[in-house]
Amino acid sequence: MNYQSTRGGETGVSPSLAILKGLAADGGLFVPEELPRLDGRPEDFRELSYQETAYRVMKQFFTDFTEEELRCCVAAAYDGKFDTASIAPLEKRDGCYFLELFHGRTIAFKDMALSILPHLMVTSARKNGVEDRIVILTATSGDTGKAAMAGFQDVPGTEIIVFYPKDGVSRFQELQMRTQNGGNTHVSAILGNFDDAQTGVKQIFGDKAFRERLKRRGLILSSANSINIGRLIPQVAYYVYAYAQLLSSGELENGEEINVCVPTGNFGNILAAKLAKEMGIPIAKLLCASNENRVLTDFFRDGIYDRNRPFLLTSSPSMDILLSSNLERLLYLSAGRNSEKTAALMRELGAEGRYRVDDRMRDFMGDFYGGCAAEPEVFACIRALYEKSGYVIDPHTAVAKAVYDRYRSETGDRRKTVIAATASPFKFAPAVMQALSEDCGDGDIFRLIDRLSEISGVVEPEAVREVRNAPLRHDTVSAVAEMEKTVEGFLR
Ligand SMILES: *Cc1c(COP(=O)(O)O)cnc(C)c1O
Repeated sequence: MNYQSTRGGETGVSPSLAILKGLAADGGLFVPEELPRLDGRPEDFRELSYQETAYRVMKQFFTDFTEEELRCCVAAAYDGKFDTASIAPLEKRDGCYFLELFHGRTIAFKDMALSILPHLMVTSARKNGVEDRIVILTATSGDTGKAAMAGFQDVPGTEIIVFYPKDGVSRFQELQMRTQNGGNTHVSAILGNFDDAQTGVKQIFGDKAFRERLKRRGLILSSANSINIGRLIPQVAYYVYAYAQLLSSGELENGEEINVCVPTGNFGNILAAKLAKEMGIPIAKLLCASNENRVLTDFFRDGIYDRNRPFLLTSSPSMDILLSSNLERLLYLSAGRNSEKTAALMRELGAEGRYRVDDRMRDFMGDFYGGCAAEPEVFACIRALYEKSGYVIDPHTAVAKAVYDRYRSETGDRRKTVIAATASPFKFAPAVMQALSEDCGDGDIFRLIDRLSEISGVVEPEAVREVRNAPLRHDTVSAVAEMEKTVEGFLR
């Protein structure tokens, strides 16, 4: 199975080449020519390990990998780096199922895909006879950057460069990135927000002269953002796994429909849920939960995407985004794979910051429901869940829980619901402890973390211990206009 660009400029691209390229040459995103079905019924996945599930899902998309290649990638990714053998456990609390996606090395769900992406990429390079050094260029709203650096750290033949918004990530996230080890890891703060970082990275990708200069030095650019199918597809696996686990524990009957609620920023995680549905997992509604940057909520309500609004900084920084890249894939599919239409909408977005989709496209997206939660609701939600069940969730997960609670009371939809729990509360201890009305004192994050561990009864993850003791290794700051120069500096 091959891949095509959402903007029509590239077709017939093999999976491994699409992984290597990241973004299509015309600026579009790669989409499989046909959406594959699961190899088997959902109930056939009941007894399977996470690794086996991941393999069986990915083989449907990465068809030019041999079985051995793909199994090696899976085995190298989902191993003891995760602090639980089940990799993505489900916690039933307050009548919903929290799919904990934060048991990897950097305690956010980005580890689910970024643990495997380096292996997919190195394998893809070998398959395509690429001998150049692969330079991974990534914009982060906080979690991708650390997870990408952890994944690519000291992987032979790669360099990893991360840009993050200087005042747009949590203090813990910044510490995680600035203490990153490895001879091939580079990170710079930028004087702008996440959209500036993402746009800057896209511009560097689009600068042909720059890419040619790098090429002459034996360097090629690729991306670890969720625009890369090597990141998107591995995320499909945990929705299949979650459904199979619910069957296996008797929570669901064969064929029973569920809803999925996903705290959303760049629209990658929820798009993976949509792909799981298209593969045959009985998912009824896809609840797209936003924080106060509610551009997607408005989009699903009136069919108008409008980024012309203030960019707000919230307690869920990984969702502080007004330009959700992966939505382009949904637009393309909903327009019946019409690349001209997709390209036109993206041009409008570039020029006016706004576009409207037609009724046919909206019908196609009818299984999405957009909802948002304001900061006070998010805090109240963390507190209420803790008081009810003793379970502490992070602000991103709380956005989803708050949106789900409202959806359920508004619609009366009683279908069982899986909520993607995308970060460990330890990663956002100051906000979580504020929500729990715990004394923040001098705001020392490690004291807050100690206290969080006490009240939740959860031992602090290894990722916290790492940051406690590590020296700062990175201190680059660049202006948005200078990002290309910064890249060159890193690669000298
Ligand atoms: C990245 C991230 C999100 C948003 O995921 P998208 O795939 O960008 O929609 C939500 N929560 C956390 C903790 C994240 O790191």
